[in-house]
Amino acid sequence: MMREFESKDGVMMIGGKSAVEIAEEFGTPVYVIDEARVRENYRNIYGAFSRFMDTKIHYACKANTNLALLRILEQEGSGIDAVSIGEVKTCLKAGFTPDRIMYTGVNVSNQELKEVADLGVMINLDSVSEMERLAEIAPQHEISFRITPGVGSGHSAKVITGSKGAKFGIPLDEVINTYARAKDLGFKIKGIHAHIGSGGQVVEPFMDMMEVLINLVNEIKELGIDLDFIDMGGGIGVPYRPQEEEMDVGELAMNLTDMIQEETDIKTIILEPGRYIVCDAVVLLTGVNDVKDAGIKKYVGCDAGFNTLIRPAMYDSYHHVALANKFGKACTQKYDVVGPICESGDYLAHDRVLPEPVEGDIVAVYNAGAYGFSMSSNYNSRPLCREVLVNDGKAELVREAETVEEMWRHQIIPERLA
Ligand SMILES: *Cc1c(COP(=O)(O)O)cnc(C)c1O
Repeated sequence: MMREFESKDGVMMIGGKSAVEIAEEFGTPVYVIDEARVRENYRNIYGAFSRFMDTKIHYACKANTNLALLRILEQEGSGIDAVSIGEVKTCLKAGFTPDRIMYTGVNVSNQELKEVADLGVMINLDSVSEMERLAEIAPQHEISFRITPGVGSGHSAKVITGSKGAKFGIPLDEVINTYARAKDLGFKIKGIHAHIGSGGQVVEPFMDMMEVLINLVNEIKELGIDLDFIDMGGGIGVPYRPQEEEMDVGELAMNLTDMIQEETDIKTIILEPGRYIVCDAVVLLTGVNDVKDAGIKKYVGCDAGFNTLIRPAMYDSYHHVALANKFGKACTQKYDVVGPICESGDYLAHDRVLPEPVEGDIVAVYNAGAYGFSMSSNYNSRPLCREVLVNDGKAELVREAETVEEMWRHQIIPERLA
């Protein structure tokens, strides 16, 4: 089921702190990170797999790269899945040592490969071209390969990554030749990786992918290459709707580790959950600026739009919404919850029953932790918003709101136009 929140005197509570107080103290829009929930999610997924075999969690940090959040996961013992040099450096800054980071780029430059290799971060190669280029740069480097398993899964066509013909990974019929070539080139070959997509809610595609990986591991073994790990990628979905079932990660873990242990000599499984760890640990609080009755529709106009949370506009994603200051009050009518961006596609939620809203109310947008802040933008010249961390009833600012001046800082007006 979707995560629910405590109510105290008609106010939503996040991590033991009133959402209304957070909004008043820090301003809106604000992303509120619940530290205890981050730790709980991490321990759930790690615990589910580590009961059965040696497990490494590489948090897919593109979901949320807030430094305080990364510190929490570093303390928990997590590793990192990074997709860019920027993410690698961000995670080093947060205290992760290079050996805990794996880099999985796609269509990356030689300069970026060199920077990553020089930092001592393992590289998960996405193509034959990338392998040949890395061989020139860092021939002894530790590597694995991302393969295209021919299995896809995800909440939207835009985030399915593992299907045949995808832009990601080594095509299946080239995998064995590629491993043979990597051995000739002198790389330290550590494992095999696949990532089928993001936000899948069923176990079967993961098992289909694992079958593909296992067959490859055994064929690769015949080349005289013994791999240390299978990396199953991320993609474990979470419920976004109130009655939605959640994936049984215990069953997922049991099935996948069973297959690995029965059919291979592989000792370690790596997982790269992003969404699973942070999604329901963050709530976006947005203030109601305007309420409009447009006849056939009623609008709740908020200070967060797709500049702050793009998932509804980009993927038609459902995010549950509630009025944090009228929490649990009877709902009266249906409203569209929309933002300040000058596009009709700017919305947070369509056709939701809410208690009668007025200006000054606080809308809580659930499940905002994954691909929320990290995909936010300056569109309409709106500065990026704040982030707050709550723990044990206390709230701390972990990112200041950007200023308008800061949005200009990299622009140059040529002298002749000054
Ligand atoms: C995005 C991504 C993930 C994480 O996906 P989630 O759905 O957030 O778990 C894991 N691995 C790779 C390579 C990715 O690109």
